[in-house]
Amino acid sequence: MAEASNMHIAVVGAGPGGYAAAFLAADLGLKVTLIDPELNPGGVCLYRGCIPSKALLHVANLIGESQHAKNWGVEFGEPKIDVSRLRSWKEDVVKKLTGGLGVLSKQRKVQYMQGRAAFENSNTLRVSKAEGGEENRSFDRIILATGSRPAIIPALKLDTPRVMDSTAALDLAEVPKTLLVIGGGYIGLELGMVYAALGCKVSVVEMLSGLLPGADRDLVLPLHKRMEKSLESILLNTTVASVKEETSGIRVTFDGPEVKERERVFDKVLVSVGRKPNSEIPGLEKTQARVGPRGFIQVNKQLQTDDPVIYAIGDVAGEPMLAHKASHEGRTAVEAIAGHKVAFEPSAIPAVVFTDPEIAWCGLTETEAQKQNREFKVAKFPWAASGRAMTLDRTEGMTKLIVDPESERVLGVGIVGAGAGELIAEGVLAIEMGALAKDVALTIHPHPTLSETVMESAEVFYGTSTDIYRPKR
Ligand SMILES: Cc1cc2nc3c(=O)[nH]c(=O)nc-3n(C[C@H](O)[C@H](O)[C@H](O)COP(=O)(O)OP(=O)(O)OC[C@H]3O[C@@H](n4cnc5c(N)ncnc54)[C@H](O)[C@@H]3O)c2cc1C
Repeated sequence: MAEASNMHIAVVGAGPGGYAAAFLAADLGLKVTLIDPELNPGGVCLYRGCIPSKALLHVANLIGESQHAKNWGVEFGEPKIDVSRLRSWKEDVVKKLTGGLGVLSKQRKVQYMQGRAAFENSNTLRVSKAEGGEENRSFDRIILATGSRPAIIPALKLDTPRVMDSTAALDLAEVPKTLLVIGGGYIGLELGMVYAALGCKVSVVEMLSGLLPGADRDLVLPLHKRMEKSLESILLNTTVASVKEETSGIRVTFDGPEVKERERVFDKVLVSVGRKPNSEIPGLEKTQARVGPRGFIQVNKQLQTDDPVIYAIGDVAGEPMLAHKASHEGRTAVEAIAGHKVAFEPSAIPAVVFTDPEIAWCGLTETEAQKQNREFKVAKFPWAASGRAMTLDRTEGMTKLIVDPESERVLGVGIVGAGAGELIAEGVLAIEMGALAKDVALTIHPHPTLSETVMESAEVFYGTSTDIYRPKR
């Protein structure tokens, strides 16, 4: 086997997992080939995920703010939306970022192959090149970073542009008059909010009893309340029994105990019911790598599969399917290949829902703590007591810490409110550093900022928050 410094590694898939891995490998002096069907690195995250959705959400938030401004004595007219200009702005953002990654790739002398890879054996890939032709290449190590794709429910599959997945919804071909979002997860809610801000009447249907299953209910509540105002309807405990195309739109049949209108017709339907790992890599069966029952490639803490030559990272290697988890796994896999003593064992991986208000959490959630039957204390700081939230007219937010009552260690952080996605990073750092609630309370936060709510929630734990009066017992 080659010395680490002489190794030639292949990275299959150039999403945030794959390109982070390839770039670090190059920085560590390894020879790297990065293979992906797109012209430049970026993967789902940059081409049809995180980045285009956040560009559109920025515009949606701006429209929301401008409508709210009349409460402060500033009135704007009805927004005039030029969808094709909006679309090309979003596409420009994607092009600049992916183009930038292409440049970074060249600067690092990563060999970028535009094409799709299949296995000939554990060490050898057959690459079908985008320009045509095939090439077999052998490598010392191979990192699989093939990501995921939208899950499909066969009963809801219709071959018509009226039924979209997240990729088609982000293409923003038009703004329909009515849209049904099937699935109350983060992707459906984010895209639903975009379409609602652009003037579409959006309904969301979710088969479970609440939106965003997985997030603590007290974090979801303020979002639910706001969505009740901005969306046409939120149907919970409801399943979609059938979809049928008619000349006027898609006829949808609903099932469930709370259903009032069994059938409705929508101009368009967005199916957003989760994502499936891209583990059906041709020829993978010729290697010793194993795919688990849920379709993820099985890996150990070094991201190594059962085949010692092959590693897997990102969405294809397990949940949570998030870009930042993919990048960190990518870097760990490369360090492991380079012979460093590493393991992927984070104490907290943040999750952010970029709706308005945003919801973010990391570490232990209250729901998980209850399920585990473990001792914990929750310290909540309502944003109604935050000066900065007041100046923004966004007092519906809340910051909470989940703390171990004995050691006083911060176990989890949950935030709902404007900018929660930026604020959660402090929680991740606190958990990773093993901070006590006291450490957070004693850290001087700038005033007036929303970040103070993190400090004050730690003060709430001790019953000594400056901005909350707690009568003595
Ligand atoms: C609408 C939407 C919004 C999202 N928003 C967020 C967000 O805000 N924050 C967040 O953290 N995550 C978000 N995600 C999830 C995020 O995009 C993924 O978690 C992330 O992209 C996973 O990265 P990855 O490197 O594992 O793979 P991917 O980004 O999926 O990239 C995999 C790449 O591998 C390529 N590939 C597949 N098979 C082969 C093959 N055989 N040969 C060569 N190449 C191959 C694919 O074409 C693709 O380019 C969002 C996803 C969607 C759909």
